[in-house]
Amino acid sequence: MAKAFDRGALKEKYKAERDKRIRADGNAQYTRIEDQFAHYLQDPYVAVKEREVKKDHVTFAFIGGGYAGLVTGARLVEQGVTDVRIIEKGGDFGGTWYWNRYPGAMCDTASMIYMPLLEETGHMPSEKYAHAPEILTHCQRIGNQYKLYENALFHTQVKELKWDEENSHWQIKTNRGDDFTAQFVGLGTGPLHVPKLPGVAGIESFKGHSFHTSRWDYEYTGGNAEGAPLDKLKNKRVALIGTGATAVQCIPHLAAGCETFYVCQRTPSSVDIRDNKATDPDWFETIATPGWQQRWMENFTMNQAGGGTDEDLVQDGWTDLSKRIRSKIAALPKEERGDPMKMFSAYEDADFQKMEEIRDRIDSVVDDKETAHKLKAWYGQLCKRPCFHDEYLDAFNQPGTQLIDTDGQGVERITEKGVVVGGVEYEVDCIIYGTGFEVGTELVARTGFETIGRDGITLSDYWKDGMRSKHGINVKNFPNAFFVQPTQGANLISNVPHNIVESGQTIAMMVKHALDNKSTLVEVSQQAQEDWVALLLGGMNVSLIGSPDCTPGYYNNEGQPMSDATKYNVGYPSGPTAYFRYIKEWREKGDFAGIEFS
Ligand code: NDP
Repeated sequence: MAKAFDRGALKEKYKAERDKRIRADGNAQYTRIEDQFAHYLQDPYVAVKEREVKKDHVTFAFIGGGYAGLVTGARLVEQGVTDVRIIEKGGDFGGTWYWNRYPGAMCDTASMIYMPLLEETGHMPSEKYAHAPEILTHCQRIGNQYKLYENALFHTQVKELKWDEENSHWQIKTNRGDDFTAQFVGLGTGPLHVPKLPGVAGIESFKGHSFHTSRWDYEYTGGNAEGAPLDKLKNKRVALIGTGATAVQCIPHLAAGCETFYVCQRTPSSVDIRDNKATDPDWFETIATPGWQQRWMENFTMNQAGGGTDEDLVQDGWTDLSKRIRSKIAALPKEERGDPMKMFSAYEDADFQKMEEIRDRIDSVVDDKETAHKLKAWYGQLCKRPCFHDEYLDAFNQPGTQLIDTDGQGVERITEKGVVVGGVEYEVDCIIYGTGFEVGTELVARTGFETIGRDGITLSDYWKDGMRSKHGINVKNFPNAFFVQPTQGANLISNVPHNIVESGQTIAMMVKHALDNKSTLVEVSQQAQEDWVALLLGGMNVSLIGSPDCTPGYYNNEGQPMSDATKYNVGYPSGPTAYFRYIKEWREKGDFAGIEFS
């Protein structure tokens, strides 16, 4: 029997907690990592290797060596386009999984649908939620299997990407002195890869050791990404700033390793049960029949975002919440089921219920009542990245671990010796910044380069009043360029790789068509782009993510008003399942309607 709750009281509590956290400086509160802070960006994992400068020409250059580049590269190879060069700022493939090697890092979305090309590579994920080293190895497996290493440029940052009209190709300049050309380019630079620091006064004055979670310093902490204990911390006092999805995963390891461990919390994460388990190879053999991964991905998307199925293959926290919402809506009287207000209210009920369960679990695990109380998240589950973990809460029962709750205000000051919260200085040997990544800053600040299309038009200018594209892939005035990201496509946030897999296949088929037909130019027509954007804007655009009523965070622009341009950051009106069906049909028809090949 579901626990009763007081809707009105919860709404008031949520509002009060949100209001406490709102800050006028929004995104400007964070410190960009540059100049005196530049050392926080150094790669602790792979040494930079000397190599010859590239001045040649390739058929396809892809910027970004994460899932987007790997999957698109693999699909191009399958289509017979083998001359693919991936350019990556890290020292290997992996993208986010190259950088994020903090202890306990693992995927939150089930491996079976999150790790791409499992069927093609024959890899069986070892766990329902694979740990980061396995995902990184999988990225390397894709790179090896599709021979993407041969032409790849690592530790290389694109500095300029410019369309050369006369020769119908792109010119690419990098920070390593490369200056080469490509007939086609792909851009998959990812949304969360530029680490940021909190804008806390005195941050530069700290005399102890410090690093960001995405550049984990195992030299200092001991242990390794595979989970060996952080043995060098046993006589150390450490403060971790942040309690987001990253912190939730590394906190149990730090709690076990440090002599004294302070967790500095501004907003608690909602942390639901994860229930990880090893994959049973006998079971895997029964399900791994031809086409299995595509079926699993589609099934998850249907469960999560709608599309009609009673079967839930993945069975996780994402599909659980969606099922609860659907059953609440189904329980409405028939005449109320199409009423957006009633449907929203049903969604809220499902969410209140879920969040009550998440809060109750804290009381059942955390011994200290005060700590348990402070770990409770007072907002809707989709206001921030939902977290799932089986050891996080128990970490607060470790004798050396102390939650330093900042009551929504953040760390007050950093001194030579440590962190100050509520007027109390906590002296530490090391500060670890689990403070996330830039979102909502200028496009060029995040990509590190400008994309200059036809007639010198820059992508930043072209999109300054909002993104314009067809399918989120092709952009007028940027011929032969393909974007791999979810917006203006399916926009499926709960499993980003599904978007990538579909885009990669779509792009590879367009490129093959162009090469088969000796087309030198591939470009969306103005009309097709306008029609696509109009179709998207004409939808209801109901999003459960990014509400201004939510506690501030990167989902809702830190609680500050969204610019008009953000209204273009939408997906296909009929939802992800319908989009994936549509795009498959579109590309398989073979005429690529709306795209001009010449
Ligand atoms: P987040 O941006 O989610 O979290 C940053 C944390 O730093 C927040 O708790 C934030 O508090 C806190 N913070 C910022 N400034 C201050 C301050 N001045 N004082 C105290 N605390 C402060 O970054 P993460 O690296 O945790 O996660 C980023 C994203 O990466 C996730 O949202 C998720 O999409 C992805 N991710 C996915 C994982 C997976 O799938 N397994 C694992 C890890 C990350 P506040 O909330 O108040 O802003």
